[in-house]
Amino acid sequence: MINLIRNAESHLQRIAIKSEGNSYSYQELLDASENIALELLNTNDDLREQRIAFLVQPGFIYTTIQWGIWRAGGIAVPLCVKHPYSSIKYVIEDTSASTIICSSDFEELLSPLKSKSEIRFLSSESFSESEGSLPDIAMNRRAMILYTSGTTGNPKGVVTTHDNIETQITALTTSWEWQKDDHILNVLPLHHVHGIINVMSCALWSGACCEFLPKFSADKIFEIFCRKEVNVFMAVPTIYYKLIAFYNELSSARKNEISEALNPFRLMVSGSAALPISVLEEWQKISGHILLERYGMTEMGMAISNSYRDKRMPGYIGLPLHKVTVRIADEQNNRVEVGSQGEIQVKGPNVFKEYWGKPEATAETFTQDGWFKTGDIAVFENGNYRILGRNSVDIIKSGGYKISALEIEEVLRKHPQIKECGVVGIPDEEWGEIIGASLILSSDEIDLDELKDWLKDKLPGYKTPRKYIFQEDLPRNVMGKVTKKELQKLFAN
Ligand code: ATP
Ligand code: MG
Repeated sequence: MINLIRNAESHLQRIAIKSEGNSYSYQELLDASENIALELLNTNDDLREQRIAFLVQPGFIYTTIQWGIWRAGGIAVPLCVKHPYSSIKYVIEDTSASTIICSSDFEELLSPLKSKSEIRFLSSESFSESEGSLPDIAMNRRAMILYTSGTTGNPKGVVTTHDNIETQITALTTSWEWQKDDHILNVLPLHHVHGIINVMSCALWSGACCEFLPKFSADKIFEIFCRKEVNVFMAVPTIYYKLIAFYNELSSARKNEISEALNPFRLMVSGSAALPISVLEEWQKISGHILLERYGMTEMGMAISNSYRDKRMPGYIGLPLHKVTVRIADEQNNRVEVGSQGEIQVKGPNVFKEYWGKPEATAETFTQDGWFKTGDIAVFENGNYRILGRNSVDIIKSGGYKISALEIEEVLRKHPQIKECGVVGIPDEEWGEIIGASLILSSDEIDLDELKDWLKDKLPGYKTPRKYIFQEDLPRNVMGKVTKKELQKLFAN
């Protein structure tokens, strides 16, 4: 987003990025992104509506390309380095990108696209110094297309303007009190709002340092933490889960070292999927920190967040962020009474412009009076919002009840033999849906009669799972989110 460049000019000598063992200043980021912008403008001086896709590992080059596209006035389309060719091709074709920038490690993967298309290919390694002037960019121009995680269907291209992105960034930099002395470690993919906006752009907006670890490794993450430079960390619940599992296997001396390094952190955030209370509690034991859970979407950045300074309530997502208005509405899009379940609907300058090339889908996702319909069900209670799940897959409609899969998962996780679980509705003639639970056990087997007995005083009969399957791990997408449609298919077989 274009005002990141203006901000960077007041931090020229500070370290903006650390990647692959190198440090890069804001000055270097500005110089490299200017060269890219000028090269992009070389063949076309109006990139206003051009979609420019790029496929490079998270790091300095990644950032320079993204900034370069923005400075040239194009629409940035970040591709996911972990995606298979078919998903990458889908995004390139869906956006009809005019230009693709990629590093040499991805050239072969993308070569089928080279032979049969008009797309201009640029190598991320070949930008040289250029001279020229850059255009002024209006804040209401389209800046980026990010694809949703594809948890519930085909990923949709979410178009945001420079204005939308600035609002999404500043909502977090003010609420979470970002400072120029902050140093964040990014372990998230950069084709998704969590990594791009919450981690990278918030850090760079603030004059802080963003360090990249391109490939996830719990060992490496703890090693970096023990250097005692990083003071902010953000991840999805699955990553915290993996870090906890790794930590638990370490020697007590190493555990102490890690806990000591984590304790002085300023901020640790979880989001992108519901944070199991067990994970929150175990991480608190290790780090001394109650994870700050927040709620957001590709379509709106972050909308609701726990407080940075005040008490955080486990299981709750907090209150709307700066400039974001939230209501809980029924199926007729009327506000429900406080304490009743309904859909989270959102208004504000953070909300996206449109789904790329999908005017009907865009129209359907807004109410007539302009509220964005998130499809997530929540309740407002105890002065905070609590997520019950996605209407499409987590709210099980059984015998006239609407049952939250997330609530049942929370209960199941408390069983000593259950490490992780996923609950879904299974179509049923009599009940509409019945409840199925996939369990990942910490022991070899579990006595189902004993489990049902254990559940008796914890869940009413209509919320108790009827069918069980056992798995080594739940089906997940690259963001680590459980793909519940896949899980439903497993029950169907
Ligand atoms: P698709 O839209 O393609 O199905 P997706 O919705 O998973 O994929 P994202 O935009 O990455 O794509 O994710 C947003 C969703 O993630 C939200 O709608 C919500 O369901 C879920 N989510 C985000 N934060 C939280 C949270 N703290 N608790 C529970 N769910 C969350
Ligand atoms: Mg979605």
